[in-house]
Amino acid sequence: AITLSGVHKWYGDYHALRNVDLDIAPGERIVICGPSGSGKSTLIRCINGLESHDQGRIAIGDEEVREDARALQRVRIRVGMVFQSFNLFPHLTIVENCMLAPVRVGEASPAEARERAHALLDRVRIGDQKDKYPGQLSGGQQQRAAIARALCMRPEIMLFDEPTSALDAEMVKEVLDIMTALASDGMTMLCVTHEMGFAREVADRVVFMDAGQIVEIGEPTAFFSAPKHDRARAFLGQLI
Ligand code: ATP
Ligand code: MG
Repeated sequence: AITLSGVHKWYGDYHALRNVDLDIAPGERIVICGPSGSGKSTLIRCINGLESHDQGRIAIGDEEVREDARALQRVRIRVGMVFQSFNLFPHLTIVENCMLAPVRVGEASPAEARERAHALLDRVRIGDQKDKYPGQLSGGQQQRAAIARALCMRPEIMLFDEPTSALDAEMVKEVLDIMTALASDGMTMLCVTHEMGFAREVADRVVFMDAGQIVEIGEPTAFFSAPKHDRARAFLGQLI
């Protein structure tokens, strides 16, 4: 479970998160949408402590996310993250990318990590690419490798920040299919995406953000057919 209560974040004078409250149950799938600059990335980066929040409380289960190296490491073991720009290590092969974190934090022996990586790379359907370097893979394959790498830590929660927006159209589906499979396996997921088809199909709840606030939150059917807030309506209107 993830709990955010009264969360505020400033970048200098800029108030990027304004009193955000959100409770996410285990196994819940949340899609976050909203205009550019509304604070979506900031919100999910605060959840795994990539950014610190200035006020309020964020917790992963009973583990509070705070600026303490040990606490942050415990949080990052439990929370996997996938970025728009893959962020694979270019000088390591795909399987080495997957093995790195579990071995480094002592969560698995190299042999265990390799076995786990092979299974996950098969699961994201790039088992045959495991000994290549990231630069030798397509964008869609790199993003699937990044998902496998995050899963290699056996996280309870997966955070996605626009995982398909850097991909060519024909590669978007192969990544969304993996995310959909992960969702049906019961993974707790928080996804920033503009893929509204994915949101309709997979999300339990859709969160709409504007100007650092959660403006609207609801089930996808209700949100898409009858958004309550003017800004949500305007945003959805632009997407169509
Ligand atoms: P996008 O859809 O474009 O990715 P977003 O909703 O993810 O937007 P954020 O990246 O969370 O938005 O940014 C929210 C606001 O905070 C923006 O106005 C942005 O300029 C500002 N901001 C983000 N990161 C920083 C930073 N490191 N320093 C200063 N301001 C920042
Ligand atoms: Mg963003």
